[in-house]
Amino acid sequence: ELILAVETSCDETAVALIRGGKEIVTSIISSQIETHQRFGGVVPEIASRKHVESITLIMEQAMREAGAGFRDLSAIAVTQGPGLVGALLVGIVAAKSLAMALDLPLIGTHHIAGHIYANQLVHEIEYPCLALVASGGHTELVVLESEGKFRIIGRTRDDAVGEAYDKVARTLNFPYPGGPYIDRLAQQSEEEFQLPRAWLEPDSYDFSFSGLKSAVLAAINSAKMKGETPREAALARGFQASVIDVLVTKSLRAVREVGAKQLLLCGGVAANGGLRAALTARCQEAGIPLLIPPLKLCTDNAAMIGAAAHLKWKRGEFTPLDMKAEPGLSLEEWSVRS
Ligand code: ATP
Ligand code: MG
Ligand code: FE
Repeated sequence: ELILAVETSCDETAVALIRGGKEIVTSIISSQIETHQRFGGVVPEIASRKHVESITLIMEQAMREAGAGFRDLSAIAVTQGPGLVGALLVGIVAAKSLAMALDLPLIGTHHIAGHIYANQLVHEIEYPCLALVASGGHTELVVLESEGKFRIIGRTRDDAVGEAYDKVARTLNFPYPGGPYIDRLAQQSEEEFQLPRAWLEPDSYDFSFSGLKSAVLAAINSAKMKGETPREAALARGFQASVIDVLVTKSLRAVREVGAKQLLLCGGVAANGGLRAALTARCQEAGIPLLIPPLKLCTDNAAMIGAAAHLKWKRGEFTPLDMKAEPGLSLEEWSVRS
């Protein structure tokens, strides 16, 4: 089967064609980073307008690149949530129109299920497994008892990890998006500024990154008050070390406790070189199979939406055509029914 997948939840307009839930026939990602850069973050109204400008063109380009006709399609998948409501709407309207015109099933898809199932495009997933979701809006530990069944055992109580990266970067006047920039700087720095780790209660799988963000801010202010220049690289390295320590330690403990056969890393922060290296080393030591998608499948894309939608396609679980954008869509509730 051939699924056309659409993703417009934030600042990437993306369309992909996925065969059998595994094969990427084509995947196009049009990023708006340059547009939002000068504002230091994503401006929702501008994101929506940009999606409107490019969605039809990108859909046509995907079909052309794949050498496919609309009659070859089996279903239309689209990100239903979570995300910016105005941005989601653009993809949803486009997907609905296609589904209606071609009389094809529509599959409203969960964005985070997409991030997790990006792994399916390059690896064989074995159950039960544990996913560490580290993205711009989410930091979660998710148990998958079986295919398509999601149970969240830990989540952030304040900032998401990608959000913390972006905020710290903005404080230090680094260019947007901050994640990749801090990552590079941290890996180049020889000094490390010691910063706290938020472990929370000993048995908790939850996360917290706002205290760490404040600690960076305090270090900058105290340097400035003393008339010194803040040690930016050392701070970047200390920040990244704290984030990685907590993410890696909690994930490995959870893998053991839930008896997961694999650990899946996903989300935009999975593109972080330091995190990938640390997880790889620690999982190797502990004998835990680790799955990480290639960089292009870590940040937002439509291929991952096609991979997650395939779970519902297989089971004939389709979405009514009057489906609405759901900025707060629950991952657990999106689980497959059968
Ligand atoms: P969500 O998926 O939670 O809805 P999102 O779609 O905005 O949020 P993603 O596209 O998954 O988030 O990831 C973007 C985030 O990843 C940004 O916060 C960005 O700074 C971060 N990021 C990207 N590359 C890196 C990197 N190398 N190191 C750290 N963070 C990174
Ligand atoms: Mg993005
Ligand atoms: Fe995302």
